[in-house]
Amino acid sequence: MNTVTELFGSMVFNDSVMRARLPKEVFKQVQSSINDGKRLDSNAATVVANAMKDWAIEKGATHFTHWFQPMTGITAEKHDSFISPVDGGRVIMEFSGKELIQGEPDASSFPSGGLRATFEARGYTAWDPSSYAFIKDGVLCIPTAFCSYGGEALDKKTPLLRSMEAINREGMRVIKLFGNEKVTSIKTTVGPEQEYFLIDRDIYEKRKDLIYTGRTLFGAKPPKGQELEDHYFGAIKPRVAAYMNELDEELWKVGVLAKTEHNEVAPGQHELAPIFTTTNIAADHNQLTMELMQRIARKHGMVCLLHEKPFAGVNGSGKHNNWSISTNTGVNLLEPGDTPYENAQFLLFLCAVIQAVDDYQDMLRLCVASAGNDHRLGANEAPPAVVSIFLGSELEAILSAIENDEPYGNKEKELIKVGAHVLPKFPKDSTDRNRTSPFAFTGNKFEFRMLGSAQSISGPNVVLNTVVAESLRQYADILENAENFEDALHNLIKDVIRKHKRIIFNGNGYDDAWIAEAEKRGLLNLKSTPDSVPCYLDPKNVELFTRHKVYSETEIRARYEIKLGNYCKVLHIEALTMLDMVWKDILPAVTAYSKSLTDTALSKKALSESIDCGFETVLAAKISSLTSAAVAKTRALEEAVMEVKGITDTLELARFYKDVVFAAMNELRIVVDELETHTAAEYWPYPTYGDILFSVK
Ligand code: ADP
Ligand code: MG
Repeated sequence: MNTVTELFGSMVFNDSVMRARLPKEVFKQVQSSINDGKRLDSNAATVVANAMKDWAIEKGATHFTHWFQPMTGITAEKHDSFISPVDGGRVIMEFSGKELIQGEPDASSFPSGGLRATFEARGYTAWDPSSYAFIKDGVLCIPTAFCSYGGEALDKKTPLLRSMEAINREGMRVIKLFGNEKVTSIKTTVGPEQEYFLIDRDIYEKRKDLIYTGRTLFGAKPPKGQELEDHYFGAIKPRVAAYMNELDEELWKVGVLAKTEHNEVAPGQHELAPIFTTTNIAADHNQLTMELMQRIARKHGMVCLLHEKPFAGVNGSGKHNNWSISTNTGVNLLEPGDTPYENAQFLLFLCAVIQAVDDYQDMLRLCVASAGNDHRLGANEAPPAVVSIFLGSELEAILSAIENDEPYGNKEKELIKVGAHVLPKFPKDSTDRNRTSPFAFTGNKFEFRMLGSAQSISGPNVVLNTVVAESLRQYADILENAENFEDALHNLIKDVIRKHKRIIFNGNGYDDAWIAEAEKRGLLNLKSTPDSVPCYLDPKNVELFTRHKVYSETEIRARYEIKLGNYCKVLHIEALTMLDMVWKDILPAVTAYSKSLTDTALSKKALSESIDCGFETVLAAKISSLTSAAVAKTRALEEAVMEVKGITDTLELARFYKDVVFAAMNELRIVVDELETHTAAEYWPYPTYGDILFSVK
């Protein structure tokens, strides 16, 4: 196989494979289960399973797995072979309809946030037929949802599918009011742009902090960082290019539409963007992408860092979640149209997003919160922790004209009546210049830019889909009962703009003045994970998710516990890693260096009292005092870590980790980084920032 077209999807059990291999009737059933969520009956499932198995074996597969996404945020798989024993000690390759549709992994070690007592530890996995099965490393992977026996979602896919159902349900009510006869369903689409770092594997192996925590816990600033911005869109190094080529090919085989790759701002940082697709598939594909990125990097003698902030003082990595809504007839509902009627529909969906982001700023902030992402949000590079929307000046002017019954555009000086007028065309590019906004309209989609590079995109899309479903529900309630649809629509849009325009901000989101202005506008500024997680339990949010049947109250509780628990664990591991590095490597190294300095001074003195040894003594004194300071800070961190033992409430614990443990870590780091700058290279036990960042030549 050589051409991209031959390669693409060659390891995917997709529509064309199914059409070729399934009886017509069964193919139809699978299609209706993909499109309308109808359950496959067991006869059809058996036929599909058989065809899938034959296809997979022809492609060299020997095992199958229900591939699922537990609440750890990564994917899980348990491989079973197709082998079935038959008489005479022989085996045959078998795979039943039941095995296709449902699995029972022993799931007791996956986080459940208390959803599942250990006596009923088993969960079950169920095929999501809307996401194609594929072969990875000789294993047939069947994308599945993962639930407890009580039916509670133990994974990230189930709520995502439910949220897609919610926006379909409420969106269709609105779509019908516009008289769209042919539209039978709407779905959201996502294209996630993924940032990552590539570093040399030998260098990586020498850094305990990278190995244990994915980020550097110490490291003095290198003489050259990203100041020159000479890496951004620069020529791709041959080693990286070879990696990207292999990554592309492997992604294409499993049907991921990897499209653009370029260097990012920081040295060693890159980005990969796929072509957008249906949200649940995009989520599966992003998981696959992250997995393959890491695996293929190793083959090329490199390590792919997906952590949000591997290096202090250097840009972190995020994920831009490009999101839109489209109909089954192929209309992008966030694309301004050519007719008054299309424009009115566009404006209403636009309003639905504006209102949703304003009403649920807390949930949007919360769904991107993690220990890793806390280093980015609000730091001087990533979007701020304050959620706001960038619309671009043209679109904002149009909304303002509608709100105030003022003319827009200088030609006709006409008032804009929703439903009667075509919107003036605005150039698409002008909407995309603001790179500092957390939530930007980019012409025909919104780009949610607060996601961390390591996180699953499922959670943020669950929130996006559900909050917009809620705006649409409210609009449908109003418009379905309106006497005059056009008047009601016009007034509704005016009303939404008036009530929610505070969330619109077109300026520089990195500017401190914006934070002050946002506060005046009454926008939330939830700075950290412990600050934002309690929002899960806010009655308005519980009401939202239960009303749309996306999460039950117990499922929300579980996620609250898991997010906080995970935050605490990450900080705990980081603190212990720091202590280990200081006691085992850093203190012995600086002691040795300081000894060599004093030895030199002493031997010089022994030779002749008149030899100048000012340098050695001054430096030895500096290192000694820094070492004493480091020991004191290390002890303080140790004490902080000990203190956590007494705290039982998870929220209180998370706050303690942030306020006390994390603060102690930062203080220790400052002293150690200072020690690093004064210690001779041959004594310092770890590769420096310079070594790491410029390690891939
Ligand atoms: P950039 O943000 O770097 O300028 P693009 O605007 O070309 O790049 O696209 C970024 C991502 O947005 C791509 O993954 C693209 O497929 C995705 N995208 C484009 N249209 C849509 C849409 N309607 N829904 C979701 N994602 C989309
Ligand atoms: Mg982008």
